[in-house]
Amino acid sequence: MGSFGAEFERECAAAVRAVAAAARLCGRVQARRVLGVALTKGDKSPVTVADFGAQAVVAHALAADFPGDALMGEEDAAELRDPANAPIAAQVVAEVREQLPALAPGEVLAAIDRARAEGGSGRFWCLDPIDGTKGFLRGEQYAVALALLDAGEVKVGALACPNLPFAGAPGCVLVAARGGGAFALPLRGGDAGTPVATRVAPTADGARARIVESVESGHGDHASHERVRAALLCATPSVRLDSQAKYAVLARGDGEIYLRMPTSADYRENLWDQAAGARIIEEAGGRVTDVDGRPLDFTRGRKLLGNQGIVATNGALHGAVLAAIRTLRA
Ligand code: AMP
Ligand code: MG
Repeated sequence: MGSFGAEFERECAAAVRAVAAAARLCGRVQARRVLGVALTKGDKSPVTVADFGAQAVVAHALAADFPGDALMGEEDAAELRDPANAPIAAQVVAEVREQLPALAPGEVLAAIDRARAEGGSGRFWCLDPIDGTKGFLRGEQYAVALALLDAGEVKVGALACPNLPFAGAPGCVLVAARGGGAFALPLRGGDAGTPVATRVAPTADGARARIVESVESGHGDHASHERVRAALLCATPSVRLDSQAKYAVLARGDGEIYLRMPTSADYRENLWDQAAGARIIEEAGGRVTDVDGRPLDFTRGRKLLGNQGIVATNGALHGAVLAAIRTLRA
């Protein structure tokens, strides 16, 4: 493993290993099965065998590397312990044990349940085992997203994007530590290769900007995004992709603007949907705020309670995007 040029060298290396291992489980589940939704959560979002399995793999790896660290994860094993869901629990256990044969079945569920941290301003890791589950189910973009937070800052962010190409082959990992720059690595069959520094694209011309947004119209307000695009005189149609792969696209210089304007006044973003991507985009030379230009406040528990929506850019276009949003919301 090469150097990430950062204070958090050991954390970066561990995060890359963990997200790559989880991506290997996701890829195997995807290759092997006709994917069905395993469970539907209270907020109606789908969760699959791979979501639970990926969380177990990352939680287990972090417990070994940083036994004192807390972990916040999107999933918990409560529903898997319901006897009605025993067949799904058995599949999760089988998938995880294929990769980690030394784990007993009970240890798989216990690993999933390790991820119970509620956040705040201490040191904790934050995991979305499959960000963009809908993209995963469609065979499109998804990401394993892991961040380390401390003192209200995202210190490390790592994203495995198994369907984003790197040097022509599918699978890319992005990793960044605060102050150390952002790096991209190939994800080959679940093992990460040599890191190369990555930067946002420099364009300051809104007309030449490339905008990315969610596939799901419920997650970002496509109509408002179109109005921002028109205000910037941007000629290129927006590209839709699931998950924090949108941050990865910007950090690699393959797009300049990520818009996530709220679809409802009361929705607040989950920490695990933004933390890793936010660190990566800033270390790649970009900027991230909410739609009002406020910095993201990661200290408020599991959600960004002090923010609404997300605007991420290459930096050069940030002011123009926020000005366009201000005008159309006035
Ligand atoms: P994306 O792949 O960018 O569409 O984002 C997927 C994430 O959107 C999921 O992990 C959910 O946590 C999150 N999500 C669910 N409902 C909403 C909503 N109303 N607005 C924004 N994000 C949402
Ligand atoms: Mg997510």
